[in-house]
Amino acid sequence: MDVFKLTTYSEDDTMEIAKQLASLLDRGDVLTLEGDLGAGKTTFTKGLAKGLNIEENVSSPTFTIIKEYTDGKLPLYHMDVYRLEGSDEDIGFEEYFYGNGISIVEWAQFIEDYLPNEVLSITIHYGEEGSRIIEFAPYGPYYHSIVESLFINVKGL
Ligand code: ADP
Ligand code: MG
Repeated sequence: MDVFKLTTYSEDDTMEIAKQLASLLDRGDVLTLEGDLGAGKTTFTKGLAKGLNIEENVSSPTFTIIKEYTDGKLPLYHMDVYRLEGSDEDIGFEEYFYGNGISIVEWAQFIEDYLPNEVLSITIHYGEEGSRIIEFAPYGPYYHSIVESLFINVKGL
């Protein structure tokens, strides 16, 4: 599988990339999001929300598992399933993953059995001098073409 990488040097650039990605997404799309603490996962999700014209403030969903933002062009479901590690609890994921909005899942490895086979996997790494490297790993041709379009749209950022 191809992995596509972008380097950003500011919070605003990370948000802009996420915003551009949002414009390419559709109902039922599923993103997974990984990265160490402070890498920029919440920042990225805020950019996605902005791209969907969501005005509610996006914050980490750690204590809620799922936060739903429904005041934009499409619903955004932001999940942090860390607390489901080792349990096989199904809290109705299919309604989100195959539903009317876009899902973005932190700690997705803990609910692997419930994830669709095709997702767009995003990992944010710390780079040199405070930069961030955002890696996009598309599973399946649909997400592959989304990432190709994204890279055309953000060229020159
Ligand atoms: P996480 O949710 O992964 O723990 P946050 O998005 O909450 O991370 O925080 C990222 C922090 O890193 C913010 O304080 C942000 O200003 C800072 N930052 C510095 N450079 C970048 C960059 N290129 N992209 C995203 N965030 C950055
Ligand atoms: Mg966070």
